[in-house]
Amino acid sequence: MRIVAARAGGSYKGLVKPRRAQRPADPAQVLPAIYDALYEAWGPQGWWPGETPFEVMVGAILTQNCAWTNVVKAIASLKRERMLEPRALHEASHERVAELIRPTGYFNVKARRLKSFLAWFMREAGGDEKSLRAIPTPVLRERLLSVNGLGRETADSILLYALGRRIFVIDAYTRRILKRHRVIAGDEPYDDLRAMFEAHMPKRRKLYNEYHGLIVNAGKDHCRPAARCAGCPLARFQHDESL
Ligand code: SF4
Repeated sequence: MRIVAARAGGSYKGLVKPRRAQRPADPAQVLPAIYDALYEAWGPQGWWPGETPFEVMVGAILTQNCAWTNVVKAIASLKRERMLEPRALHEASHERVAELIRPTGYFNVKARRLKSFLAWFMREAGGDEKSLRAIPTPVLRERLLSVNGLGRETADSILLYALGRRIFVIDAYTRRILKRHRVIAGDEPYDDLRAMFEAHMPKRRKLYNEYHGLIVNAGKDHCRPAARCAGCPLARFQHDESL
């Protein structure tokens, strides 16, 4: 995918500042520049991993408060038992689902969430995501958010990665990276941050898809609670890793 800073009016030059600079950063410049730097360093991420839209939906629910490696184990169990299919999962007992997703932690809570989502998905679409195509994104988002246990990040992950809607996903990594790079204070409402990305990045679904995958990679490998700035593609931009 093409680099976007020039298209969005951003430039690297004004952003490369001595570390610990106190000036707030301009999202119109910084957001495209962060994308460019991450994409230049790592290229396409192939995020979200999943063979089918339904697998992506299930993964989005299971990954809450859980390492992705454990989601992979749970998905493998569901596949092995031929349960990674909407009707099979909808009709399975709570206990059976909980047992199969045990590696993800909080498995009773997540089994309830999965069952609530499945009840909605069967009722709304008969278990076929193609039936949701005609529903405008804001309406579909509200309906997803009405499902017990589905928060904004999960709903938006489903919308972007399973249903191909143009919507930006915000997660804890996004918040931490932008806070350390002085773009945000860190406690802004989710939808304000989503709107900020959507206002300052080209409105392209594939770009939103790629950008979130790159942020996940940066958060996982570098911008952890104790930052590992050495080797991070964003280290040349003004930041304060102590935040
Ligand atoms: S690890 Fe350091 S350079 Fe990388 S995103 Fe976090 S604060 Fe920025």
